[in-house]
Amino acid sequence: MQYISTRGESPNVSAFDAILQGLAPDGGLYMPESLPVLADRPGAPELTYIQTAIEVLSPFFAGDPLEDEIPSLCAEAFDFPVELHFLDGRRSVLELYHGPTAAFKDFGARFLAGYMERSYRIRKQPLTILVATSGDTGGAVASAFHGKEHIAVKVLYPKGRVSKRQERQLTCWDGNVQTYAVRGAFDDCQAMVKEAFMDARLKQEYGLTSANSINLGRLLPQSVYYVYAARQYLYRTGRKPVIVIPSGNAGNAVGAFFAKEMGAPIEQIILAVNDNRTIPDYLQSGTYEPRTSIATIANAMDVGDPSNMERLRMMYGTVEQMREQTSAFSVSDLQIRQTIASVWETCGYAMCPHTAAGEYVRMHEVSDPCSIVVSTAHPAKFETIVEPVIGSELPVPRSLSELFDKESVYTEIDPDTAALFA
Ligand SMILES: *Cc1c(COP(=O)(O)O)cnc(C)c1O
Repeated sequence: MQYISTRGESPNVSAFDAILQGLAPDGGLYMPESLPVLADRPGAPELTYIQTAIEVLSPFFAGDPLEDEIPSLCAEAFDFPVELHFLDGRRSVLELYHGPTAAFKDFGARFLAGYMERSYRIRKQPLTILVATSGDTGGAVASAFHGKEHIAVKVLYPKGRVSKRQERQLTCWDGNVQTYAVRGAFDDCQAMVKEAFMDARLKQEYGLTSANSINLGRLLPQSVYYVYAARQYLYRTGRKPVIVIPSGNAGNAVGAFFAKEMGAPIEQIILAVNDNRTIPDYLQSGTYEPRTSIATIANAMDVGDPSNMERLRMMYGTVEQMREQTSAFSVSDLQIRQTIASVWETCGYAMCPHTAAGEYVRMHEVSDPCSIVVSTAHPAKFETIVEPVIGSELPVPRSLSELFDKESVYTEIDPDTAALFA
């Protein structure tokens, strides 16, 4: 399998090169030249999650130098449960938050970390991962890469500008993960990372690479849970589900579009966004207008210029074609809070703000009750929003409380790139 750039001005590469490069040299994102076709398994969930992952991911690595490692990598990366929780006979929630940092980003980050660790066999040169984070991504990446051989990780976050629990999750690491509390804003952290990548000497000496969400190695594993969940849904109800996905950069959604194109039993894919309306406005007007992002209570979706729109626009050439494939709806903070409250009252089920945006769309915009709302994070990660709304304290999942119990270690620095390599 070869990978092509969305901008069409870079040579085709293997998965190996696409994953280690991150971004294509022409500034585009890597896409598979074609999508594999899944074997027809009429609704029988005879495969475990890990078996499904091997089935779905192997064709993407056909001919890859690490092809033989994909089964062991899947077994190692996806060692936590994936639950399809039914609220009633037809409405279900796909809980993607049972991994170590209680959000769906664990799937992509853990697969990428395992792949990069194994790449040493071929590269024979250590890597340094640089990540600037405004909160959630840094925790998932740090956790996934912690303890990986021949890889150092440097996580940068803006001091005093992330939540208490997010900060705990960023600063509880030792060994190969170093965390920097930067006296500045998220934009300063990002500028430092960019500057480091532009420095050819640093790049070479440290083997600098990124683990951000546009990386193909994070994207591909996000198809697996859609195949798995759609088959389970079909088996339990005899129907194909509509899937509602809370979206920001739309990387999670691209995973679902891949799964549907590969033949997974999915009726329709619908996106839920917060007050950052770029995607629904594009589908309505046909003109793509990136914006600066607006802060909301579903903050992991505060994206004004979703990077993966470039992938979706490549898959579905015109806006008319995209309208045939999907629709997207914007949900306000007030509607998110009302939805958290109403699902708690009617079902005794707590949702994080991102998931609640998806649930709002299901309740108000989807006529087919046969549906899955994707739950992207555990509600206890957003306790300052969820607990006052439901008037109840949420138990913290054990994987998270273990992280919170560790000692906090970080280096405080000025926004100066040199300080990262001192
Ligand atoms: C990252 C994230 C999202 C948005 O995912 P995209 O792939 O950027 O669309 C939604 N919810 C949570 C909890 C996240 O961490």
